Amino acid sequence: MNTPKRYLITSALPYANGPIHIGHLAGVYIPSDIYTRYLRLKGREVISICGSDEHGVPITIKARQEGVSPQAIVDKYHSIIKDSFERFGIAFDIYSRTSSKMHYETASQFFRKLYDDGVFVENTTQQYYDEEVKQFLADRYITGTCPHCSNPNAYGDQCEKCGTSLNATDLISPKSTLSGSAPVLKETKHWFLPLDKFQPFLEKWILEEHKDWKTNVFGQCKSWFDMGLQPRAVSRDLDWGVPVPVEGAEGKVLYVWFDAPIGYISATRELTPDWEKYWKDSETRMIHFIGKDNIVFHCIVFPAMLKAEGSYILPDNVPANEFLNLEGDKISTSRNWAVWLHEYLEEFPGKQDVLRYTLTANMPETKDNDFTWKDYQTRNNSELVAILGNFVNRAMVLTHKYFEGKVPNVDSISDFDREILNEIPKLKKSIEENLESFRFREALKELMNLARLGNKYLADTEPWKLIKTEPERVGTILNISLQITANLAILGEPFLPFTADRLCKMLNLTQTTWENVGESVLSAGHQLNQAELLFDKIEDETVEKQLAKLQATKTANESATKKANPQKEEITYEEFSKMDIRTGTVLEAEVVPKTQKLLKLKIDTGVDQRTVVSGIAEYFKPDEVVGRQVAILINLAPRKIRGIESHGMILMAEDADGKLRFVQPNESVANGSEIK
Ligand SMILES: [Zn+2]
Repeated sequence: MNTPKRYLITSALPYANGPIHIGHLAGVYIPSDIYTRYLRLKGREVISICGSDEHGVPITIKARQEGVSPQAIVDKYHSIIKDSFERFGIAFDIYSRTSSKMHYETASQFFRKLYDDGVFVENTTQQYYDEEVKQFLADRYITGTCPHCSNPNAYGDQCEKCGTSLNATDLISPKSTLSGSAPVLKETKHWFLPLDKFQPFLEKWILEEHKDWKTNVFGQCKSWFDMGLQPRAVSRDLDWGVPVPVEGAEGKVLYVWFDAPIGYISATRELTPDWEKYWKDSETRMIHFIGKDNIVFHCIVFPAMLKAEGSYILPDNVPANEFLNLEGDKISTSRNWAVWLHEYLEEFPGKQDVLRYTLTANMPETKDNDFTWKDYQTRNNSELVAILGNFVNRAMVLTHKYFEGKVPNVDSISDFDREILNEIPKLKKSIEENLESFRFREALKELMNLARLGNKYLADTEPWKLIKTEPERVGTILNISLQITANLAILGEPFLPFTADRLCKMLNLTQTTWENVGESVLSAGHQLNQAELLFDKIEDETVEKQLAKLQATKTANESATKKANPQKEEITYEEFSKMDIRTGTVLEAEVVPKTQKLLKLKIDTGVDQRTVVSGIAEYFKPDEVVGRQVAILINLAPRKIRGIESHGMILMAEDADGKLRFVQPNESVANGSEIK
């Protein structure tokens, strides 16, 4: 494609039931931001659009769980997400939301146009209805017994125990989670987008005309086509969303997948009255940045909608990324297994670019990839500090030291200097080509190669050894080093905008564009500002703290998923009353020799003083238990344990991870008191 007149960049709308994490950033928002910043630096006409996706059942469920309105949920997360994007330097032209008035209007008009044109197929289906709350039930609002594994708590769309996807009508003895009553099947009318009718058009458009798309995207589309596209309902029975703008559709809203992508259009309308030139002019190049879970919606469903409407352009590319994992585990909002952007910004002030750098270097462009805190530390210390920061600092400090902070004159250029300078346009071209093809990792590597080149140049020329004898030569070397620094500031802006900004301030450089890249960005005599360190070392303890935080999450998850053991067989009171349980006090304690788990205890039971062997040594040291009041079963038949006769048993509570705790009266009582 030739250079288009303008660009429309969209980034997947984050779902407003949780904050943003590093997986979202690496998958969607960092690539879209790098690309947008690059186009702006090149002087292209570009707008970057995003906003919160605020409809759908998960939001209504979260609202119900927290006892607030869906609007309160989306207000909360919309503001967290918007704020953290801003602080992280994601430069959208607008960050809107699908609960806005403009969006309701746009989405309704869009539906209405397709409805009036007879695009939809109407279909009546049977759906569960809760007669007590007078509401049709979304799949997630129905629980029942799984027909496959008999799990009594399966959901209407899935059994989380055996992993089978279900239809609500598959469940045995279904129950409404709203009222607890048994739902009844009731007829309901819905509108369907007949994707099957669009398949020939979509197949030609993607498989023949967009062979240039990333292989992961192209492959997923092809497998959807191979399965055969099916009509998809565009409406739902729900009280949260954009009402279906048709008579007789009371209580129905647009299905969230239909309304969300229209959010891109609404946001553009909100941004500019000139919105139509971005959406309806064939000279606009539209690019959707998304994660792989959104491929079907952006490559098949939304294009079918746009095509059906008739006046819109289609995306030119959909460079979807795969997923980022965290420390070897799938990132999960519900399990809290994530590095949350708003927390990172609090815990690592001023280090936006370190995260941007690490996530770009590990971007899951062609396959799933992993984020680890160790790698984060290494990339900061061995690359940002040791290569980029070190080079810039040396060039700046030496110039201040030898030339009062003024860019020195070029005396004469050696062959070696020429070789170095010739690398600049080559690296620029390579960065451009990689960015234009959405290869962000490779582009970042080339940027760092420029910093490496600078480091090598200073190491090879050793200006600090020449300053006494050849000050003119040193002037040339530092001039070239400063030119490399200035190029790093320009070429680095899309990737590391905060660093580029600080570099420009240090270099006293304003108004740079991509076209300034070259060997004479700074003229001789130009006054520099003071140097400051761009990056600082990240210590082991910082990384350990983050790992400990993740470990705590893991432990909490494990205990949360651990179910209590089922009740034992019933006993009579007579059977229970045979047990003689008393309060006692530990008088002495010692570890049983050659064991790790056993403590030998001397207990005052009120009845007598006796020896008990107890398997608690892993959790308690002898001096921690002496003086403690305990509950002891005293009429248990004596047993010999490791050669010691044990007379009774101390009662302990055992939690999910096997940790033991004493069972004690809540206030001290006389030894020998009966527990019954
Ligand atoms: Zn099951």
